[in-house]
Amino acid sequence: MSEIGFRDSHALDHEDPLAYLRERFEIPKMPDGQDTIYLCSNSLGLMPRAVVSDIQQVLADWAQRGVQGHHSGVQPWLPYHHQFASPLATLVGANASEVVVMNTLTVNLHLMMTSFYRPHDARKKILIERGAFSSDRYAVMSQIACHGLRPADVLIEVAPRPGEDTLRRDDVIDVIERQGSTLALILLPGVQYLTGQCLDIRELTRAGHRHGAKVGWDLAHAVGNVPLSLHDDGPDFAVWCHYKYLCAGPGAVAGCFVHERHAEDTSLPRLAGWWGQEERHRFEMLPSFQPTAGADGWQLSNPPILSLAPLIASLDAFGAAGMSALRRKSLALTGFLRARLETRLGDRIQIVTPSDSAEHGCQLSLRIRSTPAGRRVQEALGSAGVIGDWREPDILRLAPAPLYNRFADIDRAVTILEHVLTPNE
Ligand SMILES: *Cc1c(COP(=O)(O)O)cnc(C)c1O
Repeated sequence: MSEIGFRDSHALDHEDPLAYLRERFEIPKMPDGQDTIYLCSNSLGLMPRAVVSDIQQVLADWAQRGVQGHHSGVQPWLPYHHQFASPLATLVGANASEVVVMNTLTVNLHLMMTSFYRPHDARKKILIERGAFSSDRYAVMSQIACHGLRPADVLIEVAPRPGEDTLRRDDVIDVIERQGSTLALILLPGVQYLTGQCLDIRELTRAGHRHGAKVGWDLAHAVGNVPLSLHDDGPDFAVWCHYKYLCAGPGAVAGCFVHERHAEDTSLPRLAGWWGQEERHRFEMLPSFQPTAGADGWQLSNPPILSLAPLIASLDAFGAAGMSALRRKSLALTGFLRARLETRLGDRIQIVTPSDSAEHGCQLSLRIRSTPAGRRVQEALGSAGVIGDWREPDILRLAPAPLYNRFADIDRAVTILEHVLTPNE
């Protein structure tokens, strides 16, 4: 067991240089007014308190200025989305022109596949993982159908080995090498939503590119969770949402990365809209479309300002802390959780998430082996104030977030889980 498992949680909280950030967030309460132990940021991050005033600012400008709010006010709406490019680029390791905030994740995935999944001749296949998140899978299947192809002919799914839960990098590289020049696109998750496994973006991207495939990443569970270096790792595109670790609220406007090498490529087919039109010509209403260079050129509509507002506070919190300090605390928190689970619960649970720090983020996925089985564990935890989430048939996901979780939260959560899993005498 790692050193940290022997430490006192209150001492760890006392030493935590990021402890001050918790104050910036609303922590959901139990009926008796106590803070819940919120371990569900993999699903929905908590609300930064400053969101209220940021939204009120938009409402006030709208009320007082009407259409003039596009050009005047504290934060005029026309350039509103530009404020996110730089902090977001820092967070994902990209240039500002490579990222854009727009739409929602699945919509962006479709936009990206329209440009980067271009099956032709012998190169028609698309490689995903067998356990892909449903929406990604549906998006892929429907893109295949839109090209008049059949998933049975062109969809390749990599899977963990029999009896294993997570993918082996070399197995994925093997499949890429065997499929070689038949691969049109590789689409994989940065962090797998169910197992919490972190994949090697750089190595897998390079393997795909060596064989001439385009490579895209779904970073829904990776952004704000693990350090990313998209520009250097070099994928063609990436998509993610902002309501999980990024704390920008339910259904928040999502993010998208397009590598610089495609910035000026007007030969790429794309679904176009006026917000992707070169900015200085946007209001000239020209009959022909000239995309803005960079990721901005994939925008369709004028952005939903009210829904963008919550991103300000959340990116502020990430900027204040810095991703490397957050990652340091995250590894400590998750390491502490793992150590406590192993000592207190032993083989009543199996931790599915890889233990190597390069292969996991905040989340640990536990397979529950003992009674009471199934979803009842999750319900019992919920009534004791521990908010995790349950995935059928037997996985409990617990994700301590370095922005606001404390080591003491983990101590209590494990005590409660132990209690829940201990059969009544
Ligand atoms: C959360 C998540 C989604 C959700 O898609 P939306 O379009 O935001 O509803 C899609 N894919 C993955 C991998 C996710 O984790």
